[in-house]
Amino acid sequence: MAAVRSSLPLSSKVLTQIWSGCFSNPAKAFGIGLCSRRDRSTYTGQIIPPPAKYGGRHTVALIPGDGIGPELLNHVRELFRFSCVPVDFEVVNVNSGLAAEDDINNAITAIRRNGVALKGNIETNHTMPPSHKSRNNLLRTSLDLYANVMHCQSLPGVQTRHKNIDIIIIRENTEGEYSSLEHESVSGVVESLKIITRLNSLRIADYAFKLAREKGRRRVTAVHKANIMKLGDGLFLQCCKEVASGYPDITFDSMIVDNTTMQLVSKPQQFDVMVMPNLYGNVVSNVCAGLVGGPGLVPGANYGRNYAVFETATRNTGKSIADRNIANPTAMLLASCLMLDHLKLHDYANMIRTAVLTTMNETRLHTADIGGQGTTSDVVQAQHPEWKPICRRPRHDVCFAHV
Ligand code: ATP
Repeated sequence: MAAVRSSLPLSSKVLTQIWSGCFSNPAKAFGIGLCSRRDRSTYTGQIIPPPAKYGGRHTVALIPGDGIGPELLNHVRELFRFSCVPVDFEVVNVNSGLAAEDDINNAITAIRRNGVALKGNIETNHTMPPSHKSRNNLLRTSLDLYANVMHCQSLPGVQTRHKNIDIIIIRENTEGEYSSLEHESVSGVVESLKIITRLNSLRIADYAFKLAREKGRRRVTAVHKANIMKLGDGLFLQCCKEVASGYPDITFDSMIVDNTTMQLVSKPQQFDVMVMPNLYGNVVSNVCAGLVGGPGLVPGANYGRNYAVFETATRNTGKSIADRNIANPTAMLLASCLMLDHLKLHDYANMIRTAVLTTMNETRLHTADIGGQGTTSDVVQAQHPEWKPICRRPRHDVCFAHV
């Protein structure tokens, strides 16, 4: 890394400050290393990042998706190129309008090949027939990406009603209400199946407790509606209790989902680590993202035993703001940092994360979603003020010379 730093012709004070800051004092904020200390933990030892290939470079599947996904991921690619990150992308486009599943199957194959992906959200049109599965859901279930992890933390420089929020949300990502099992056998009567299994509930509860222990957290709260769904949510809650008994160092409690959302918007600081089934995870993630400034700010990760996929936490398509240079790139940039941590490229992750968080302090760079007038490219260029001249060079000049 020292070689990278010294060899780049960067004169900007901003960038020099960011770089020197990040190497001497790596960012401790916002999602850093949700999986960053994998090599030192028993839990993370289960998941092995793909080996670097071809001279130490990694290949990652890049799925642009719809709406703002393609433009945000283009910014990530340019930033990686500028920063000499040793990652190459295999771009796989998925056409959400097609009924056939060839596109998404290609994407799944690319992730199986590379082990890791960075993706934008793929649109799911709700006017499609019930047999049409969400491409995002298909991808997560096919790869058994059972744990969705979101670290929701108050950001520097962003004005919000509540301060000092620091919540890790673990969402079961493969079953529950997302089973895609619906039918209308009798006209006017729809049955929509929510699947809760003991195996997957134990698995996600165990993930939550292990992550809590790894991160030095003290409390895990299971979110449920077992008073109404006594069997389904009852089983989920029971599994959480069973797993909790193996972690006497961590306090376990539970909260009904409706009370949880009320508590979140009134006193969010009370929560530490939360674990929940799929749909509650969706709702709670969105509430929490709103608490810290909105969908453009929070990164998300999906982990399984063998694969990992990184995206924005609230998985928005943002079609109405696409290609207008107004989307907030922060969530996607931070998602790319989580991906770099997963690849054990921690120095690069810290460098970019520190730059992003430093930029957050500059109100003039805030995009419209957080009350500013800055553009997407304003924010990205602030991470690398001299990126244009550098990126005009052929790619091998930029990267291979320094890595
Ligand atoms: P849209 O109205 O943009 O088509 P949508 O109704 O499909 O979006 P989502 O894509 O889930 O909903 O987005 C929810 C809201 O959050 C929208 O208003 C969207 O513009 C906004 N949003 C999502 N991502 C970002 C971002 N990165 N920056 C700014 N706003 C965002």
